[in-house]
Amino acid sequence: MADFAATKQLFSLPKGVVYLDGNSLGPLPKAAMARLSTTVEEEWGRELIRAWNSAGWMARPRSIGDRIARLIGAASGSVVMGDTLSIKVFQALAAGLALRPGRTVILSDTGNFPSDLYMAQGLCRLLGNRVTLKVVEPEAVLGAIDDQVAVVMLTHVDYRTGAMHDMAAITAKAHAHGAVMVWDLAHSAGAVEVDLSACRAEFAVGCTYKYLNGGPGAPAFIYVRPDIADYVEPPLSGWLGHATPFAFELAYAPGRGIERMRVGTPPILALAALEAALDIFDHVQMREVRAQSLRLTDLFIKEAMTAVPELELVTPIDANRRGSQVSFRHPQGYAAMRALIDVGVIGDFRAPDIMRFGVTPLFIDEADVRTAAGAVGLVMRERRWDNIKYRERLAVT
Ligand SMILES: *Cc1c(COP(=O)(O)O)cnc(C)c1O
Repeated sequence: MADFAATKQLFSLPKGVVYLDGNSLGPLPKAAMARLSTTVEEEWGRELIRAWNSAGWMARPRSIGDRIARLIGAASGSVVMGDTLSIKVFQALAAGLALRPGRTVILSDTGNFPSDLYMAQGLCRLLGNRVTLKVVEPEAVLGAIDDQVAVVMLTHVDYRTGAMHDMAAITAKAHAHGAVMVWDLAHSAGAVEVDLSACRAEFAVGCTYKYLNGGPGAPAFIYVRPDIADYVEPPLSGWLGHATPFAFELAYAPGRGIERMRVGTPPILALAALEAALDIFDHVQMREVRAQSLRLTDLFIKEAMTAVPELELVTPIDANRRGSQVSFRHPQGYAAMRALIDVGVIGDFRAPDIMRFGVTPLFIDEADVRTAAGAVGLVMRERRWDNIKYRERLAVT
């Protein structure tokens, strides 16, 4: 049985703060500080360039990929780390299109994160608009999959509403029409149970600084289904995805399997912090994390709605249809979130009017949820959002 009181102790959390924004930037794992200083002092400091071999630096994108694979239902050897999520989206999408050369449509939805859509738009332009991006409402995705679609590209859990797509059903429909499936697991990895092997999606990508707590700018991951990994065409053909990078050949030849999705030099310091964060997941099963997340989100919804009945819940109440966050719509959502942060409850705001609360069982417990719901009640009852100092938008919401 997972001991969530124990995992909470593994994070450095400032006193007097309830942190409901681990869905955007996970908090600092205490062990990350020591891990980073070891990597800096002993490996970088003493080993210098030898550390690529002696400290196993070069193998790290694969070994960490294996640890993430466990959390997303993927086979060992099918996930590799590197770059940011936007880059990984581009890679998966372009590789997916190359698998369906005769087809002309990328299908996505309005619940997708803008960067994913922007990357798709840029790729369409790069391909001389031979391919177009079609964006439909989330509920219309299943019906919009037809034989023109080359790639269905979706984010599993909607970053604004927290609504979760049916991964198995959509992937099956995509495959029935001969389309390639790309899942973005940005709000799923470390948050909900994912079974990539079972759904047979060709590609998946995700970031590690949200629910996986890898730290600001922690590298992203990419998954390629093992049976196609040896013939997928890597669209970003960097030297570390080459079959023999240290032969320094002039012509590119893709590496074996998932190796070919590597691009350039791995960010070793960021990977060190991420490793410390992933150690915490060794103490839990995703099934237990999910069960606890549902208990806590249910409690938060119930308590917040009791305190403020006029709140508009935009997250599906059905447990099978939501991820690990709770979102409310409020016309003064931005100012209300600023006021909440001032009373020690940190969530965030997503334009135009969504107040978003990430619920992360590794470090959020029932008492935190009750405190947060109480604070929501206070801010709304006392109309604390109605204060000039909260109106001006900061650069990062
Ligand atoms: C957070 C998030 C991103 C961010 O991409 P970066 O390149 O890491 O900045 C992209 N897509 C989705 C779906 C996200 O949730």
